[in-house]
Amino acid sequence: MQSDSDVNVKSSWADKSNLEKALLVGMHGPPELKREEKALFLGEFRERVIRSLTKDQVKDPGIYPEIVEALKDSRTVGMLISGDIDWHFSGKYQKLASEMGKKSSIMHDPELKGDIGLVVVSGVAEDVEDVMVENREARLKRLGLPLKLINSAGKKVCDRCYDKITGADPGEIINYGKLTLSDRFWGEKCNSCQI
Ligand SMILES: [Zn+2]
Repeated sequence: MQSDSDVNVKSSWADKSNLEKALLVGMHGPPELKREEKALFLGEFRERVIRSLTKDQVKDPGIYPEIVEALKDSRTVGMLISGDIDWHFSGKYQKLASEMGKKSSIMHDPELKGDIGLVVVSGVAEDVEDVMVENREARLKRLGLPLKLINSAGKKVCDRCYDKITGADPGEIINYGKLTLSDRFWGEKCNSCQI
């Protein structure tokens, strides 16, 4: 017959074993779990990822300033983009990486799964606690910018709108152009306020 102390020993052993399992997953992980993890991060180890975007975030008309910052990081060796995303959306990031002298690759692998669309990869294990970034639209709305202006990324806007967005977040400067006198002459208007 089992004594109470036997039960205690058994349950504490079970807990410990679960804890150890969790630690293993977080640190060095058994091979099959590492493979699962790599399938989520476009074939990269989670601890090598500095920043990542979801597929929907890559499809935003604007470039995420967080990715610009991550590409500038001296530890960064390159960037991976999911092959599920149309070039129309991923092209802006590939161009950016090449301008910054960093490698980028499109990953076509049926083994990949999940919602990650882009990862910036470090040459060393970093284990950044939170690699995901806040949605650009939510962030800029919180800063008080109108949706029309947020969605005019990649287009030209008037001086007033330009100052509004770069005043709220200087990192957004990469996403907007200013209307020139010649644009005005040809009848082009601000893509946000239509003035
Ligand atoms: Zn405007």
